[in-house]
Amino acid sequence: MLAANEERFWRIQREYLQRPEGDYAELLRRGEVSSPDGADPEAWRAEIRRKARQDKVSVSTSRAGDRAFAMVNKPIGREQELEVIAREFRRYQALRELRNRSALLGHELVGWIRHDVESISLCGHCGARLYARTDSERIEDGEALTEPCPGHEPVDLTRVP
Ligand SMILES: [Zn+2]
Repeated sequence: MLAANEERFWRIQREYLQRPEGDYAELLRRGEVSSPDGADPEAWRAEIRRKARQDKVSVSTSRAGDRAFAMVNKPIGREQELEVIAREFRRYQALRELRNRSALLGHELVGWIRHDVESISLCGHCGARLYARTDSERIEDGEALTEPCPGHEPVDLTRVP
């Protein structure tokens, strides 16, 4: 891993561990957020809406496949709203592609920690790291994309339905 990416990786992990308030806090901070891997999208949306109602914050949620999105309602145009949803969906697709590539080496990523346009993850078996930037400045780095997972067979993605 490049030293600069490694530094970002550890910083994002540290911040996450020090500030585990979850997706709703992330939504308030950034104005938009998407559901984490493996979360039930409807349950996730319901939880976001429940907290928003409590705080009297106006939010919109939407869903694309097994991913849900939420954004704070600001007086922005429909076009900007669609742009935000499109951006979140691109991020989701980029991370899914990285997950698949790491699975080809036998790794099983435990989920993503997000920091704005950056995301990090770890293999649940061996701890191999992955650092990604999913904006126009695409970066993908880490052992999870280059080294095989010790003791774990690669996943044959052609067999996954
Ligand atoms: Zn691994």
